[in-house]
Amino acid sequence: MRKKIMMIIALVLTFTMLWGTGAVYAAQVGRQDYNQVQQQIEQEKEKLKQGKAEEQSLAQEIQGLETKISAVENQVAALQSQISDTEGKIAVAKEELKQAQESIDSQDTNLNLRLRTMYKNGSIGFLDVLLGSGSISEFISNIDMVQKVHASDKEVLADLKDDYKVVKEKKEELDRLQSQLSSQKQREAEKQAQLTANKSEVSKKKANVAASNEARQDNIQDLNAEADHIMAIIQEEERKAREREERERKEREERERQQKQQQQQAQNGNNNSNGNSGNSTGGDSGGSSDNSSDKGDSSSGGSSGGGFTWPVPGHTRISSNYGWRICPFHGREKHTGIDIPAPYGTSVKAADSGTVIYAGYLGSYGNAVIIRHSSTLYTLYAHNSSLVVGSGKKVSRGQTVAKIGSTGSSTGNHLHFEVRKGGNSYGNDVNPWNYL
Ligand SMILES: [Zn+2]
Repeated sequence: MRKKIMMIIALVLTFTMLWGTGAVYAAQVGRQDYNQVQQQIEQEKEKLKQGKAEEQSLAQEIQGLETKISAVENQVAALQSQISDTEGKIAVAKEELKQAQESIDSQDTNLNLRLRTMYKNGSIGFLDVLLGSGSISEFISNIDMVQKVHASDKEVLADLKDDYKVVKEKKEELDRLQSQLSSQKQREAEKQAQLTANKSEVSKKKANVAASNEARQDNIQDLNAEADHIMAIIQEEERKAREREERERKEREERERQQKQQQQQAQNGNNNSNGNSGNSTGGDSGGSSDNSSDKGDSSSGGSSGGGFTWPVPGHTRISSNYGWRICPFHGREKHTGIDIPAPYGTSVKAADSGTVIYAGYLGSYGNAVIIRHSSTLYTLYAHNSSLVVGSGKKVSRGQTVAKIGSTGSSTGNHLHFEVRKGGNSYGNDVNPWNYL
């Protein structure tokens, strides 16, 4: 917006210097602008509605993810408690295993001790038994008893070994269960991390949508203010126009009265006022051109009768159209023409025959040409790399007047083509599509 205002100031100053008229360009807005803004408000409201719906659905998506996350969290917690439980059982099993091993070891020791006593020092043992026995039958019975004791010891040892095996298997099973639970917990934790990442992504998206909704809401507010502003200007302009009409009506009546008086007095000499498209019309902006600003130029427009020829033949793409647009940096801007991209140096043609009233540097417009087609109709060609015609030259329809470039406020090679219309010396911008 600020850029636009600067451009307007530059333009007003330039035109003031060129023609000595100080009409305020910025105030020249009309009902068409008002309707465009209203239309834009409707469009923005529709987009806001869509944005709000999107925000709503993202909020629902987040809620769904949160439900899933808490379910997975519960699952992880349950697995953790199972893992702790299993760890407790493993500890008990370890203890049992240790005790079983100790029992085996001590029984083993006992057995070895007795065997040593009986067999390792066999002769002495045998002699002891022999000497300690009162008779052969007692001796035999004693030997038998020793063997029985030995057999019983071996049996106990075998039982203990069986017990050990059972405990060991139990512990192995618990270990397997533990590792199974751990990997299950690992999987759930991964799932949880994934869901959390999803949620953060959706949250980010939702924040973006919310921000753009808010910006849109601000924009609608701005547009409404703009519409009010335009309406105020329109009403003020209409009031001025009524005053002007009234004044002009009085002046006309006065002139007619004087003319009649002169005609009556004498009828010598004939005053021809034949200014077709020369420079002479500029100075005299009498009542005739001011009154009929609607149809005034179609009769004097020259060969075309309203239909301009395309200013950049072979290049029909429009990169920016005429009308209000929203600039992310400057807010709302009115684009006063159409932008037609074309390669550097491409010929720019006069849309219709006329007189070049300006050819030179013109602030944000860069190297610009302005052609007057009638006392109320002008075309402007901006951002040129070079100018082919000079000020004051008459040009025909389709004649090359400049070469495409990117001078002034421009970011790439294109023609900014503007149509201007009105009773004052350079007119106001109007929709070029009504003339092309
Ligand atoms: Zn432009």
